[in-house]
Amino acid sequence: MALLEVNHVYKTYTDVNRSLTVLDDISFSIAKGEFVCLVGPSGSGKSTLLRMVVGLIQPSRGEIFYRGQQVKGVMDKMAIVFQSFALMPWLTVMGNVALGLEAKGISRPEREALASKYIDKVGLDGFEEAYPRELSGGMKQRVGIARALTMEPELLCMDEPFSALDAFTAQNLREEVLDLWLDVTLPVKSVLMVTHGIEEAVFMADRIIVLSRRPARVLADVRVDLPRPRNMKDEAFARVTDKIYSLLF
Ligand code: ADP
Ligand code: MG
Repeated sequence: MALLEVNHVYKTYTDVNRSLTVLDDISFSIAKGEFVCLVGPSGSGKSTLLRMVVGLIQPSRGEIFYRGQQVKGVMDKMAIVFQSFALMPWLTVMGNVALGLEAKGISRPEREALASKYIDKVGLDGFEEAYPRELSGGMKQRVGIARALTMEPELLCMDEPFSALDAFTAQNLREEVLDLWLDVTLPVKSVLMVTHGIEEAVFMADRIIVLSRRPARVLADVRVDLPRPRNMKDEAFARVTDKIYSLLF
């Protein structure tokens, strides 16, 4: 059984003055163990689709299933990392990472133990009491990742998680996220990551779902068979990026 199934999903945003169709009949599935990237032009509806997958918003038509169960709201086993980090400035690293656990009604000692484990996993050991303003962009996103991991998701969703970071920090974090995905001691089995970076998608993904301009349709579902760790300078790497560029431009 697929971990995630997106089944003929449409989304139209409506307000008093207009109606905007963003997603037009999107279907795909993700198997256990897969790293899948969604790429597409800016404004094509990638964030909308990811928010629907994790149950933050609802499709206008169609269904999304997580392990066969229809997604109708936020579910255990899925967590999301945002481009903007979405940290609470008045909370410490510990407070931010443990935030979702409080909502689940988990006791403070248990919350802190779990949060500590994932703060260590993302390399922020020693920064538990720091505030977001004291952290670099890369460290803020580590907090965002630790907060998602603390929910112990099986499917980790990420919305352009490296877009706000400088090139070096972004590349380090890409490699670390791949390590987290491959770490068999962690609950994360599959990743669904939105990006507008084609090289980034080819560097990370097993499969790349290419979306068209708005209203977005699936243009292609491209399997990336390159061995890991991948080298962006390889000819084989360039062949895959060229294929995706030619679909989009
Ligand atoms: P992407 O992540 O691919 O850049 P988004 O999913 O953020 O695209 O947005 C797709 C389109 O939907 C954009 O034109 C955006 O302005 C519009 N949109 C997004 N959220 C809303 C909303 N809550 N209400 C109305 N329009 C929205
Ligand atoms: Mg977006």
